[in-house]
Amino acid sequence: MNSIAERIKEVRSEITEVATTQQRPPESVQLIAVSKTKPAADIVAAYTAGQRHFGENYVQEAIAKIVQVSEALPNNDICWHFIGPIQSNKTRDIATHFAWVHSVDRVKTATRLAKQRPDDMAPLNVLIQVNIDDEQSKAGVQPHQVMELAALIHELPQLTLRGLMTIPAAHAQAADSAPSFAAMQRLFSELQAQYKQIDTLSMGMSNDWPIAVAHGATMVRIGTAIFGSRKAL
Ligand SMILES: *Cc1c(COP(=O)(O)O)cnc(C)c1O
Repeated sequence: MNSIAERIKEVRSEITEVATTQQRPPESVQLIAVSKTKPAADIVAAYTAGQRHFGENYVQEAIAKIVQVSEALPNNDICWHFIGPIQSNKTRDIATHFAWVHSVDRVKTATRLAKQRPDDMAPLNVLIQVNIDDEQSKAGVQPHQVMELAALIHELPQLTLRGLMTIPAAHAQAADSAPSFAAMQRLFSELQAQYKQIDTLSMGMSNDWPIAVAHGATMVRIGTAIFGSRKAL
């Protein structure tokens, strides 16, 4: 099996290829390496290969690894992204350890994150998670609720609303996600028309990211293709 460094290099060159096909600069697509369930040593290996943005889903696990990684790599410049479901009793840990949160989907979470963001840290970058395929099992607001939540987040100085995130319904054929990504691209344009700082559309995972990039994704969240498959938790 290839090393983490080799797989990162491969994913990066594929991103360059897909972006170029779309007549977009390769650096307009940011790679978030999703390291959930993987040990700190894997994060260190990816960092050594030049990766700087990492995504984590579980607060307790993430904080333990953030500590381990900072011991192995003092003064590292990793940018940590929280991409998992948010429980109210975990907002303080998220607000104090992360630079980005992709999964904000309710007013209560946003106000807690704002209140708990330390004064000496830059505003927390926030994405609104959209349940684009209206799945019972998934977090996220419905498309028609985006503008209302955006307006509220916009009023909180400790948060900077940067855009939208989604996880579309699973399909046997990744191409079948295209209509969902297209719908997100339209919502994103509407949000951009309203707020000038909106620049981030987080969508696409190991199996479907090229289709997401074809529909304007600016961040892709890739785990398996970099770190290998995960054991079920
Ligand atoms: C696990 C996860 C990913 C990465 O998924 P892969 O299929 O392993 O690339 C991306 N986004 C979210 C929100 C996740 O939970």
